[in-house]
Amino acid sequence: MPYQNEFADKTSHIDIVQNPDVEKFLEKCHKIEDFNGEDISSAGQQFSPPINNCFHKPDNIISIDGSFYEASRKKEYPSQKIGFIKVGVILLQGKSLSAIQGGSKFVDPYAVAKIKENNEAYSFVLPSTNIVYDDCEDVQESFRRALEEQFDNLRDKADDPNTSLKTTLFKMASYLDGCDANRVVLSKCPCCKATDNIYIYKDDEAPKCPHCGKRLYLTDILRVWEQVADVTSNQSALTRTMNIVERLLAIHYIRSIVESLKESYANTLENLCFFIDGPLAVFGEPAKFHACFMKYLHELNQTMRSLNKSDILMIGIQKSGAVNDYLNLIKDYIRNGEVYCLSDEIRNKYVTFSKNAASDTFGKETYFGQDFLYKNKKGNVFVFNVPYPFEEKSKVANFKIEKSNIANYKNIKIYTDLLDDQF
Ligand SMILES: [Zn+2]
Repeated sequence: MPYQNEFADKTSHIDIVQNPDVEKFLEKCHKIEDFNGEDISSAGQQFSPPINNCFHKPDNIISIDGSFYEASRKKEYPSQKIGFIKVGVILLQGKSLSAIQGGSKFVDPYAVAKIKENNEAYSFVLPSTNIVYDDCEDVQESFRRALEEQFDNLRDKADDPNTSLKTTLFKMASYLDGCDANRVVLSKCPCCKATDNIYIYKDDEAPKCPHCGKRLYLTDILRVWEQVADVTSNQSALTRTMNIVERLLAIHYIRSIVESLKESYANTLENLCFFIDGPLAVFGEPAKFHACFMKYLHELNQTMRSLNKSDILMIGIQKSGAVNDYLNLIKDYIRNGEVYCLSDEIRNKYVTFSKNAASDTFGKETYFGQDFLYKNKKGNVFVFNVPYPFEEKSKVANFKIEKSNIANYKNIKIYTDLLDDQF
């Protein structure tokens, strides 16, 4: 995805920043501490070679990368728009199924994840502006129902609803406050907006609001519907949906592996890394799910650790943004093959403009992973994000410090090795 504020060309950028009104406005804007030459050249001193570990590099990499489009239904009706999200799941590297099945104890994760011929794409078609689906009453209900149906239809086995993305969502929702393995709770009814006792039970195929009697959908718990309007663009809802689907798909594959290979899933998971486009974070209405991902990964990592295996491998690659700008500024002063775990202190000083950023830890309500800066052996630089090795932020005595202590990430060498190989 392009960086949202990227200018199409340099001429328009210069025209804008040299505009007297813009210049006057920028003079009054809060400025980040300006870099001086000494700051830039000393920034590289914080980097160090990743510590060797006893884990081996995984043979398999699954890359998950989404994109979305909003298009008019017909040329004659430009105001009627349909949303289309496509999430590509690509095998970047892996042993073939036959090679792995040749008497090995490892089971091919792609067979579990049903990735055929090295890649698979999942499509989500959602109503956007002024499109009403089936017998729904409005665009918002249409969006809710279409999203639910498509979460349910994405199944590993067509005849088994327990293998659906919808069931993975229920499992993640069960980690939210007030929810459990049999019942999850919505913060409000999308129809009557009542806020008490809005439950969805695991086996209820057509849950209804106890107040207004209208149909509820499990995907309502993502709260993306709050962004959906009848006659304005729904790009924001599409972005949020794509963001959560990309991350949820990785979790879905992990759940598929764990539940289908009850005895040997740790062997398969240690040999697999997910590459995700963007940070390991959930933004906007579904943000609270970031904590569910932390809890689920931690639960599985307990088993992985007890078997002397690496924590589950997942890496979010950030191609643009403020941290990338910072890294590009200092890259000439970093030695090849060295990595840095970004602290809030450095972020607040050189990366983040927000004045109150220093009062709390970065990404408190959204991130389930930590930013690392790396210059690989070929000299290419990366901002990457890997899961926090903790169950809950509030359970770590000084999370702000511990999250940026590289010693807490036992498998960091695997990630840097993969970045050396792949790019
Ligand atoms: Zn209701």
